[in-house]
Amino acid sequence: LFVTLEGGEGVGKSTQLRLLRDALQSQGYSVLATREPGGSAGAEDLRQLLLFGHNPLSLRAEILTHFAARFDHVDQVIRPALADNQIVLCDRFTDSTKAYQGYGRAEGDPAVLELIDVLQAQLNLVPDMTFLLEAPREVTRRRLAVRGVPTDRYEQADEGFHARIAAGFRAIAQQQPARMRCIATADRTEEAVNSQIMKEILSRLSHG
Ligand code: C5P
Repeated sequence: LFVTLEGGEGVGKSTQLRLLRDALQSQGYSVLATREPGGSAGAEDLRQLLLFGHNPLSLRAEILTHFAARFDHVDQVIRPALADNQIVLCDRFTDSTKAYQGYGRAEGDPAVLELIDVLQAQLNLVPDMTFLLEAPREVTRRRLAVRGVPTDRYEQADEGFHARIAAGFRAIAQQQPARMRCIATADRTEEAVNSQIMKEILSRLSHG
């Protein structure tokens, strides 16, 4: 089973990933928890370039670099783990590329969305379940402030960019209702969010 968590910064993805990994492992499942951009040695190198590189890449170069990292991660880590019957939990995947580069940076330019779809089709791996974590921008901004100074170039982006990303994720979820569930995290405890997601994963595991 391949499960991805999606959403903007500060919505609680990495906390939920950790809670899910622990909860599934304690029920005896073999779990691989991973993240993008990154997740394999080569893709972590590309993550450094994408998030902290000194020279900004053109939009299409940025998309291809995200996919270069993703192909390496899928080929070297995710597909082998799935073949070994592990549950793979991944913090971000192609939906993030669509939201950040497609709807955020390219403002929904259809040619850019199509490029992402073509690369995704070549990848030939779609998550079985995707949880889109959502919280209002006031809440995520507060959470990020607690976490410390902005760390990478995306976290420093302007508010219009963040709004386009949130709307982009919403649009993707509406296009993919069978795979994606929207989960509001602002006014609920981490444990409550975790048990909702766990319930959905366990039900999927038992009903196929
Ligand atoms: O999930 P995490 O916050 O670690 O993501 C790292 C950074 O990469 C974030 O700032 C996110 O906005 C950015 N990112 C991006 N495009 C993607 C994936 C992540 O801009 N396709």
